[in-house]
Amino acid sequence: MRIDVVSIFPEYLAPLELSLIGKARQDGLLDLSVHDLRSFTTDRHRTVDDTPYGGGAGMVMKAEPWAQALASVAAAQPADAGKPVLIVPSPAGERFNQALAYELAEEDHLVFACGRYEGIDERVIEWAEEYFTVRPVSLGDYVLNGGEVAVLAMVEAIGRLLPGVVGNPESLVEESHSDGLLEYPVYTKPSVWREREVPAVLLSGNHGKIAQWRRHEQYRRTAERRPDLLEAFDAGSLPRADRTALADLGYDVVDGHLKRRPDAGSQPAS
Ligand code: SAM
Repeated sequence: MRIDVVSIFPEYLAPLELSLIGKARQDGLLDLSVHDLRSFTTDRHRTVDDTPYGGGAGMVMKAEPWAQALASVAAAQPADAGKPVLIVPSPAGERFNQALAYELAEEDHLVFACGRYEGIDERVIEWAEEYFTVRPVSLGDYVLNGGEVAVLAMVEAIGRLLPGVVGNPESLVEESHSDGLLEYPVYTKPSVWREREVPAVLLSGNHGKIAQWRRHEQYRRTAERRPDLLEAFDAGSLPRADRTALADLGYDVVDGHLKRRPDAGSQPAS
């Protein structure tokens, strides 16, 4: 995969040289370049922002440096390779999640446009449609100072899904959000730490029982922390043991979906 990031703070993206993403770059699994937006300006002050039309607080990023920068990265795309995906981090975008990370990990070329100030002149987004598949994407319902932190998070989430980046691909399968549930709790040695014992089933060597315990812990944890995920979970073909565990947590399967019983109390039973 190729990734281009455009920012007025290229040094903000330095962590992408570290850890698994840095190694993926060294190993040639990920071709990632960071571009300084200011190098696409033409004035002496390398200006990238100006006051907003209509008045109001803050500054807006000027269209022309962005058009120059984006045209330059689009030109590097082979003519027969289709449009790259331009991800515009924005609190006003669609929410980033694991499903979107998987979807974007299938692409050959991603371009990230890091906004600052009040954001980028909207006409850039319209203009870019000719050269890119444009996707405004939000990291969550809060406002950051710039798109760089959002890009660090998105590139890490997408990059670790690329073949070969995570040593054991099995570890991607059982993670939170991979199947619509949160992950079960995990433990390592020693089996007793400060008088706290690891759940006995994990020491039993009984793989069937361990798998069932983990599944039930996924339901319990998801019910406690993210009931919205349980309600969206496809429960159509759950085995009876799972339905029983969910019923104990106050959830019944209705038309293939989990519905919390009105009489189940305010907190799921554990
Ligand atoms: N005025 C904008 C609004 O209210 O939608 C917010 C601008 S914010 C101060 C500056 C930049 O930070 C945005 O252009 C975007 O690149 C980035 N940003 C802020 N919050 C974000 C979020 N939740 N997700 C992704 N990017 C975000």
